[in-house]
Amino acid sequence: MSAFIASSVLARSTANPRASSVSTRVASTTGTRAFAKCHGADSLSARDALGGSSRVPSRTSTPARSTARFGVRALDAAMPFDNEARAAKRLRKLKIGIVGFGNFGQFLAKRFIDNDHAVIATSRGDYSDAAKKMGARYFPDPDDFCEQHPDVVIFATSILSTEATINSFPVQRLRRNTLVADVLSVKQFPKQLFLQRLPDDFDIVCLHPMFGPDSGKGTWKNLPLVYDKVRIGEEQPRRERVDNLLSIFEDEGCRMVEMSCEEHDRQAASSQFITHTVGRMLGSMELEDTTINTKGYESLLNLVNNTSNDSFDLYYGLFMYNKNATQELNRLELAFSQVKAQLFDRLHTLIRDDIFDIDGSSPEQLKAAWEKAGETMNERGYKERLIDQVNSTGVIGGSRDEPDRKGAQSEAPSR
Ligand code: NAP
Repeated sequence: MSAFIASSVLARSTANPRASSVSTRVASTTGTRAFAKCHGADSLSARDALGGSSRVPSRTSTPARSTARFGVRALDAAMPFDNEARAAKRLRKLKIGIVGFGNFGQFLAKRFIDNDHAVIATSRGDYSDAAKKMGARYFPDPDDFCEQHPDVVIFATSILSTEATINSFPVQRLRRNTLVADVLSVKQFPKQLFLQRLPDDFDIVCLHPMFGPDSGKGTWKNLPLVYDKVRIGEEQPRRERVDNLLSIFEDEGCRMVEMSCEEHDRQAASSQFITHTVGRMLGSMELEDTTINTKGYESLLNLVNNTSNDSFDLYYGLFMYNKNATQELNRLELAFSQVKAQLFDRLHTLIRDDIFDIDGSSPEQLKAAWEKAGETMNERGYKERLIDQVNSTGVIGGSRDEPDRKGAQSEAPSR
C-alpha cells in the first residue's frame, strides 16, 4: 500500500513539478519505507535510500539501485536532514508586507514569521511595539514600507477602509511585478479594486482565510483558505511566488479551496454573514453559562465567542460589500417569522378547539370542569383573553406583559 502511495506520489511529482511540494509530506513518511521495502532492506538507512548522499544522485551513479523503481526519484521525499530540502525552503523565504496591522494583520504576521518568512508592516496607527515583539519590522510611513520592496503586499485593512487605503498607497514605490493580495472577508470588491487601481504588471491573488484570531488560535488544520489567482504573470518565478505564499497556509494544514471571488461571495453570504448575524443576535441576548449546558447550547456560546471580538466595521463590511447579503438577511428574517408563526398557529388551533368545543365537551361540562378546578367562568384567565384577542384582531401577538390593544394591563395567567 505504502509502495503504491509512494509510486503515485512520484508519478505525480514527475508529471507536475508543482505537485511536489504537496507530495513532500506524504512521501517523507511513506516514501523511504516503501523504498526500503521494495529493496528487501528494511534496515536500509534513509540516507542510503537516497543513494548515500544528500545531493541529487545521478541515475547512473549507483547502477544497482538506478534500475529500482523508486531509486533516485525518491529525493522528492524530503527528509528533515536533507540539506537540499532545507536549501529549497530557504529559497522560498518571502518578504511579506502587511498593510493594516490590526487584529487580523498581526494574527497572520505571527504565523508567517513562525514559518520563517520576513514580515514588514504599515498601518494607520503605530504598531512599532507589537511588531518588534513578534519579530516584524514596522514602518509608519507607507513610502518607507514600499521602499523595502516586499515580494508580496497583503492588504489586511478593514473592508470599509480598503478603497481609501489603496487610493493613497504609493504603489509606484513598489518593485515592478510585485504580488498583491488581500485577506478581506468579501472578495469581489477587492478583486475589482485591484484590477482597476494596480499597475498592469502587478500580480494579484485574492485570499480569504475563513478563520480568525479566535477560531484559528491553535492549529489551522482543515480550516478553509479560499483563493483566487486573479492575475499572475506567465514567468516561472511569478508562478512560484504565488504558490510559495499559498504553501504557507497549505503547510499549516489549511483546506485549500480555489474559487472565484464571485462564487465566494455567493456562498459566504449564506454561511459567514448568517453566522456573524446570529452570533451578534445571541451576543446581544447576553447568554450565560449554566450548570446544565447541552452540547447544542455550548456551540451557541462558542458562536458568540467566535464572533463577538470581531469589529462592527468587519460585520458591516460583510453586509455592505457583499451584494448577496441583503437577500440572506431577508431570508433569515422570513425564516424566523415562519418558525414563530408555526408556534402561534398551533396555539390558535388549541384555542379554536376550545371555542368550538372540538373535544366534545359541552359548555356545561366545561363550566363544571372549571368550577371543579376552583375557577369560575367569570374569572378572566390569560387563555380567555387570548380568545378575545383572536376574535377581535384575528392574530395573536405581543407578550403577556404588554398592554393589550385596548390599553388594559395584562393579568398573570390563571391557568
Ligand atoms: P477590521 O476592523 O476589519 O480592520 C482593522 C484594520 O483596518 C486595522 O489594521 C486598521 O488600521 C485598519 N483600518 C480601519 N479603518 C481604517 C482607515 N480609516 N484607514 C486606514 N486603515 C484603517 O478588523 P480585523 O479583524 O483586523 O480585519 C482586517 C481584515 O481582515 C478585514 O478586511 C477582515 O474582513 C479580514 N479578515 C478578518 C478575519 C477575522 O476573523 N478578524 C478573518 C478573515 C479576514 P489601524 O489599526 O492602524 O487603525
